[in-house]
Amino acid sequence: MTEDPYTSARHKMVAEQLVERGITDPSVIQALSTIPRHLFVPEAVRAQAYDDGPLPIGENQTISQPYIVALMTQLLGLEGFETVLEVGTGSGYQTAILGKLARQVFSIELYEPLAQQATRILHELGYENLVIMTGDGSRGLLAHGPFDAIIITAAAPRVPQILLEQLADGGRLVAPVGGAEGQVLERWTRRDARRGDHFKCEKMIPVAFVPLRGKHGWQEKDWKM
Ligand code: SAH
Repeated sequence: MTEDPYTSARHKMVAEQLVERGITDPSVIQALSTIPRHLFVPEAVRAQAYDDGPLPIGENQTISQPYIVALMTQLLGLEGFETVLEVGTGSGYQTAILGKLARQVFSIELYEPLAQQATRILHELGYENLVIMTGDGSRGLLAHGPFDAIIITAAAPRVPQILLEQLADGGRLVAPVGGAEGQVLERWTRRDARRGDHFKCEKMIPVAFVPLRGKHGWQEKDWKM
């Protein structure tokens, strides 16, 4: 998987966009060094696959900037044994990274064509610990929780309580929170789930994502550019 025409572009991306900006988790660096990001973007933008920004993937959606993917993954603190929920499969690139770093990943995508395309490429790459579903991920996935980590890859008005409740004790949730004018990346950690809940919230950096839709997401009329 390492020797493809984009290998040097990928290593340059890792050095200049991730390591220089403070990404330190070796497993995150390893994952982004090997996963072929160019296969997750449409052919028309393939030459820009390793550029320092998001790219269009169809259905008005985007694949996130490499640095943001790396940072969000690092904030989840995965060690390899976790069950993870991803809300917003999109291209499936973040899903692939989670698949490398965790035991089992469930990912939900609202738009069927994106879910199908992501399923196809992830299957071709040989992943066997990923389950991609079509539906409204803002409600979570009660049947498969609790989750050691949850990642929302679209902007939420606030972190849905129903998702916090699907975190395991000690679990982490990372999400961009805010509206069309911009969001802040938040990390929530659940503590002492048995003895009365405590959720710690840390605010990280400003970010810009497409809106989370669905029951606990943004309604069309409230997402104003
Ligand atoms: N991690 C993806 C990000 C894609 S953008 C990547 O890097 O490719 C966010 C995605 O969230 C979009 O594909 C959008 O369709 C999806 N989305 C928005 N609201 C959703 C919801 N309620 N449930 C599931 N997916 C949702």
